[in-house]
Amino acid sequence: MEIVDIVPPMLKNNVIVTTVDSLFKWAHGNSIWPLSSGLACCAIEMMSAAGGRFDIARFGYEVFRPCPRQADLLIVAGTLTWKMTPPLIRLYEEMAEPKYVIAMGNCTIAGGPFADSYSVVPGIDEILPVDVYIPGCPPRPEALINGMLKLKEKIMHPEHVEKAREVLLQQKLAKMDRIKEMGGAGK
Ligand code: SF4
Repeated sequence: MEIVDIVPPMLKNNVIVTTVDSLFKWAHGNSIWPLSSGLACCAIEMMSAAGGRFDIARFGYEVFRPCPRQADLLIVAGTLTWKMTPPLIRLYEEMAEPKYVIAMGNCTIAGGPFADSYSVVPGIDEILPVDVYIPGCPPRPEALINGMLKLKEKIMHPEHVEKAREVLLQQKLAKMDRIKEMGGAGK
């Protein structure tokens, strides 16, 4: 028997029955606190997202924190150099758990136009675990908002993400099999 079944019929339209776990996930997914940190031009788009025109406050994400101890989201926005990685990792380590990382822009994701440079990190996932990637040079504020809503989905329904990942993996394996077959046919 579900817990909802024991609610009297006259209360069903006025009472919400849920689990504490779902309530925490709902609250967490709707009140992400990003760290105020930016590395290069992508950070300007991140700042615009918090301004009046795009108004990220509509989703509950406007509380950009200056202190990592009060933040649970690190938006890595801009070109990351190797010299800058120790302070960035330190900021990440000081953030409260559970914490998340968004990779914003081509530079962060794969080095962007500086990928061949000796000084630029060729992908943030070499040093930090990334939850959401937002490609673009630069991605627009709407793209950042969309990325944060994807993160919300991940926080509130981790099982959906697992399912989507499984489907992607199957598609990738099927594609690799097709490629192998084509290679075999050509021999
Ligand atoms: S992705 Fe483009 S806009 Fe963003 S930091 Fe790199 S060069 Fe600048």
